[in-house]
Amino acid sequence: SPGALSEKQTYDWSEEEEEAESKARPVQVLLVKDDHTFELDEAALSRILLNKEVRDREVVAVSVAGAFRKGKSFLMDFMLRYMYKHACEDWLGDSEEPLTGFSWRGGSERETTGIQIWSEVFLVDKPDGRKVAVLLMDTQGTFDSQSTLRDSATVFALSTMISSMQVYNISQNVQEDDLQHLQLFTEYGRLAMEETFLKPFQSMIFLVRDWSFPYEFPYGQEGGMKFLEKRLKISENQHEELQNVRKHIHSCFTNISCFLMPHPGLKVATNPHFDGRIIEIDGEFINNLGVLVPWLLSPENIDVKEINGSKITCRGLLEYFKAYIKIYQG
Ligand code: GDP
Ligand code: MG
Repeated sequence: SPGALSEKQTYDWSEEEEEAESKARPVQVLLVKDDHTFELDEAALSRILLNKEVRDREVVAVSVAGAFRKGKSFLMDFMLRYMYKHACEDWLGDSEEPLTGFSWRGGSERETTGIQIWSEVFLVDKPDGRKVAVLLMDTQGTFDSQSTLRDSATVFALSTMISSMQVYNISQNVQEDDLQHLQLFTEYGRLAMEETFLKPFQSMIFLVRDWSFPYEFPYGQEGGMKFLEKRLKISENQHEELQNVRKHIHSCFTNISCFLMPHPGLKVATNPHFDGRIIEIDGEFINNLGVLVPWLLSPENIDVKEINGSKITCRGLLEYFKAYIKIYQG
């Protein structure tokens, strides 16, 4: 029987701990420490993935990755709202309802490079009748020095390896830097995996926040695709390095897409007392959010995680997670 579950039976939990344990929340499962070592909270990860409701279900693992302070948690809280409202039409809900979820710890949260997982895994019925488990992950890094870049690359690599969909959250534009970082992350990932004839990773979504050229490329997925096509185009007269970055990215992912999001408005960006209520967010942002979240998470759009062509369950994902982290712990 799984270690984490039996552990719970022998350990005398206080009422407070029971309470905290039953309340859904973000759980830091992977942490990069100041000395650049990685710490995997295997017990916490096991509690989530070996829960008897989900452990034998095929898993859809959605990761949102990117630097700090770029609106990832804000987006993920809306993703949670969509999941909790069971993808119903009016999932956005009441316009005065504060936003909760990943941002729960608010300003006191230390900015740690690592992976957080939402403690509740959602069961979703696909239109073909299969019930799958949906796992939401928040992957964050820092890019301010060589050593933090290396840590972040490893964390990104891991989250890309264990997710079926990686949402790369970037601000304003897709810069050459962003592409180089992505090449570094995926190179780290690919080196750690077995070689196969299949592309190593599934879906990559470039999510551009605060897009400010809607007249050139409109907000949303179609505008995003046209923009990305242009940005990822390989041409003879490009510098070789630029060509290689692009070839590499194409060779790593089965699906690559892009979504252009408008700016959410000044209250969201600057008011420290803003609590996430929709009424204070720009309408254009909300409209696009209403398209983006179902596009990412609707029962017909979500894809089960595959590794070397086989579908993976929550239990299987835990094993891969442990195996992959060992490689980096070297
Ligand atoms: P994270 O560190 O990437 O998880 O970022 P947070 O979600 O905590 O957001 C950081 C700050 O950016 C908060 O003050 C948010 O209100 C604000 N924010 C959220 N989404 C956006 C966005 O799309 N654009 C801008 N400019 N700010 C945003
Ligand atoms: Mg965050």
